[in-house]
Amino acid sequence: MLTFEGVVYSQGAFSLAADLSVAAGKVTAVIGPSGAGKSTLLHGVAGFVPQTAGRLLWDGAAIGAKTPDRRPVSMLFQDNNLFPHLTVLQNVGLALTTGLRPSKDVTERVEDMLAQVGLSGLSTRKPAGLSGGQQSRVALVRALLQDRPVMLMDEPFSALGPALKDEMLDLSVSLAAGRTVIMVTHDPNDAVRIADEVVGVVDGKAWVPLETSAFMAQPPEPMKNYFGS
Ligand code: ADP
Repeated sequence: MLTFEGVVYSQGAFSLAADLSVAAGKVTAVIGPSGAGKSTLLHGVAGFVPQTAGRLLWDGAAIGAKTPDRRPVSMLFQDNNLFPHLTVLQNVGLALTTGLRPSKDVTERVEDMLAQVGLSGLSTRKPAGLSGGQQSRVALVRALLQDRPVMLMDEPFSALGPALKDEMLDLSVSLAAGRTVIMVTHDPNDAVRIADEVVGVVDGKAWVPLETSAFMAQPPEPMKNYFGS
């Protein structure tokens, strides 16, 4: 369980407050209006945004003071965050090694994962030689190979068309099965598609998670404008 005990994340004049727990092993969507603080919440968990109050706990252990690389989290970014000058093998290999010459063992693990997402034979390409959907798969494989229990996804696949986005959401959830997935999205349909629970974020406050169908039937009062009801 990922627990926010009176946590506040701050960047500039903006603060995001969270006092809630996210269930382990489930998919939790974070939804709300633009500028509400969804990315701030996710980046705070990853350690990229300063925590200015409270405690963040994973399985009861405080992780809020750890540097990003020492947190139990991997992150899938909106723009994939692939290095354009590196090959697919090197980009993915960075999940397992710091060098740009992956060992035989690392290469085999990367090739195996690439095959699982339909990218066999593409490991020597650079990102520019791949379609948007293929780039998303590379980024997904890299995040999965980091092998951390919490997978953060910040509006993943939003650059893809609707059918491909849905396919990638389904693939991510199936490959990340057993991990704790927290996904920011501005599209309630994404939450309905893959999320067990939903955290609503409005005006710098994250609400306690509700089971997805309960959330959609009756969103927290301040979110009703967002849903137009
Ligand atoms: P959302 O993901 O819900 O659209 P964000 O978490 O990205 O919202 O942003 C929440 C607020 O934080 C916005 O008002 C935004 O302008 C502000 N903000 C985002 N990044 C920074 C930053 N680096 N410095 C100062 N304020 C920021």
